[in-house]
Amino acid sequence: MSSQIAGQIIIKDLIGCARCHGEGHPGLQFRQFTHNAETPRGIVFTHWAPCPTNGEPILLASVSMPTPLVQGKDPEEDARSE
Ligand SMILES: [Zn+2]
Repeated sequence: MSSQIAGQIIIKDLIGCARCHGEGHPGLQFRQFTHNAETPRGIVFTHWAPCPTNGEPILLASVSMPTPLVQGKDPEEDARSE
């Protein structure tokens, strides 16, 4: 039986806050979820932090995922020429 202490904290400079629409919050402390939150699209949120402006939760997705979150444009789409 392992009894790991929950609540690992990572500190990140948040650029652009979706909660308060501010420019961001440098040095924000993100706490680890006890249980990860996964969306139907396969994005796994592992940490969260309260927005310093209004206290609403900011979710942090894991960056160690095999699939990229942002898709570039498909090179085959632009390959056509007259
Ligand atoms: Zn904010």
